[in-house]
Amino acid sequence: MNRLNKPVITKETIKAMEDMSFFIHAKIFDDLLIVAQKETNCFVLKTSEGLIVIDAIWPSKKAFEAIVNAIKFIGWDPNTIKKLVLTHGHVDHTGCGKWFIDKYHVPTYLSKIDDIFWEEHPAKPDRPETWKDYKIDVYVKDGDTITLGNKTIYVYGTPGHTPGGLSYIFPVEEDGKLHMAALWGGTTPPWAKNEVKEYIKSLDYFISEAMSKKVDVALSNHTSIDNGLERITYSKVRMDYMPNIYIIGQDGFKNYCQVFKTLSYDALERL
Ligand SMILES: [Zn+2]
Repeated sequence: MNRLNKPVITKETIKAMEDMSFFIHAKIFDDLLIVAQKETNCFVLKTSEGLIVIDAIWPSKKAFEAIVNAIKFIGWDPNTIKKLVLTHGHVDHTGCGKWFIDKYHVPTYLSKIDDIFWEEHPAKPDRPETWKDYKIDVYVKDGDTITLGNKTIYVYGTPGHTPGGLSYIFPVEEDGKLHMAALWGGTTPPWAKNEVKEYIKSLDYFISEAMSKKVDVALSNHTSIDNGLERITYSKVRMDYMPNIYIIGQDGFKNYCQVFKTLSYDALERL
């Protein structure tokens, strides 16, 4: 079968990041919820001391309400949200964070470099409603950990997509069995040659850290990379005897990361 070796990313893809006409969610592990709009998604990780929201979609109240409603729908309590952890300082990930702060008073986590980047380089300079609109409480960097209750998120500095982009590895559980999940924070390669080289270096570093942590689950914060919407749809109606398609094994994870290399080599050819 002649399969695509990379997603098709167009202007429409970028535009669709602002499409708040529908949301979809699924509990993909016993302790992990995914909530998506058409192109971007976030995760909610359940710990023994409350919930951690990872990324926050787009700065739209609708996105905030969709995340909160999804949490309620699966029977968790949004009043137990304790942290908002961001991968990088782009508006489609910093998203609706200000409503989480207003309503749930959560401390926010991001790298210092990307906090400054977010402030100084708005993705849409001509649209103030997309500019940095809340403060970061905790600066995290490579080698740090973020712990809440029984869960620890391992933090990796993976610059390239943004100068201070972060990627995360954390345990998830299904039927009493632990798995290690990896979230590559900045999805697409950047537009300058040197930055693409840095992106590839970060990717190699992250893959080797993921191998040593025995990562067997691949997560993406963009649905176009991993057939996200289809995987969420499948997971919503998955039956007990069907596999969890997020669990792809260590070799599977390495293979999955190949898409980021393919995109990088394409970018280098173009630049
Ligand atoms: Zn980004």
